[in-house]
Amino acid sequence: MSERYRESFQAFSDASIRLPGGVNSPVRALRSVGGTPFFTAKGRGAYVTDVDGNRYVDYVGAYGPLVLGHNHPAVHQAVQSALDDGTAFGTPTCRETTLANRVSSLVPSMERLRLVNSGTEATMSAIRVARGATGRDKIIKFNGCYHGHADYLLVKAGSGALTFGQPDSAGVPAGAAADTLVADFNDLDSVDRLLEANRGEVAAVILEPVPGNMGVIPPDPDFLVGLRERCTAHGSILIFDEVMSGFRVHLGGAQALYDVCPDLTCLGKVIGGGLPVGAYGGRADLMGHVAPEGGVYQAGTLSGNPLSVAAGIATLDVLSAPGFFEKICTQAQQLCHRLQESASNHNVPVTIQRVGTMFTVFFRSAGPIRTLRDVQACDFESFKAFFHAMRDGGVSLPPSQYEACFVSAAHDDTVVAATNTVARSAFASVCKDA
Ligand code: PLP
Repeated sequence: MSERYRESFQAFSDASIRLPGGVNSPVRALRSVGGTPFFTAKGRGAYVTDVDGNRYVDYVGAYGPLVLGHNHPAVHQAVQSALDDGTAFGTPTCRETTLANRVSSLVPSMERLRLVNSGTEATMSAIRVARGATGRDKIIKFNGCYHGHADYLLVKAGSGALTFGQPDSAGVPAGAAADTLVADFNDLDSVDRLLEANRGEVAAVILEPVPGNMGVIPPDPDFLVGLRERCTAHGSILIFDEVMSGFRVHLGGAQALYDVCPDLTCLGKVIGGGLPVGAYGGRADLMGHVAPEGGVYQAGTLSGNPLSVAAGIATLDVLSAPGFFEKICTQAQQLCHRLQESASNHNVPVTIQRVGTMFTVFFRSAGPIRTLRDVQACDFESFKAFFHAMRDGGVSLPPSQYEACFVSAAHDDTVVAATNTVARSAFASVCKDA
């Protein structure tokens, strides 16, 4: 145990007594890169500080929500003000309609929507609507895409499950996964084969239009359009899971960036500004199936929670100011450019893929990385060495080659330059170890 992480090490030992793996979500335990996690004391802007007092430039960003950075004053103030009014009521509140309007105006395909508490709830509920509306049971998902931890979605799921070499979780009944068909991302032929073999039976095709849960992988130019055409032809509902890509790859999500209109969309992360939230929505006729208007039941004690909704509204308001989002993308682009240069200077073969404010440094020179198989062929040992060298140098990255790094509005030129200084030494150490 290094002196640098003494307090975190102790905190992790204490936590491990009560919490499985010492954590409340598996990737946080750092199993795929080894070592123990640091325990965070606080976050401000682009930085987090751990319980030992070490400060890090943060590219985890709570796994996506913190697009404005930690503790942004507008979000802080909005939550404070909502808190003064009370934490939960079990009645409708006006802020919920405000957030729904904001979301709809940025993502027009979401003509109507419902707020839930997490991304997992959003995908489960959207699939229920698709099944209820079509009267069909089967769904198609993609190898390496993660949609939360519902039983029937933990089949060939990304990041956490892949990191642990457990693509199919224990405890999922065979029957629960029987209606989940799996295609390959960026491979329309694999979708055609499934649609043909299950003609008239596929309720929905669900995907991350820009996967971030096997690292950041842009869709091929014709892939999303091809899925749209096939879903229309087969009467299947196209569901974009934009829990991660929403307000991250473009202000209007991947659907705006690639100009493809899904039937239903799932959101989470950014629309809660760092508090628990999710949303699903889409075509008005489909959302008319949701109870109490229709027969698809879905409910939640804390759905539309006042604090989460206040944080979400504040986040979207700041983010949608003219030029604001584009500036974050420019910073992300600059950073990726510098990292690529630094890696090349040390002869470390990497392919850096970025869409909007999300990027992944893949330790593999033969790009582009288009499929899960490409990611699996990366040099995981080099990733591990890079992760630890960055962390020891004061830059916190998500602890898996299968994750996306997140840039926020607080990652200014100074932060980008500081990151690259640490990265130069980190690439040098990877090069020495190789
Ligand atoms: N969908 C995607 C694309 C995600 O990235 C995640 C979480 O990372 C989820 C769904 C599940 O969201 P949550 O963890 O809020 O349940």
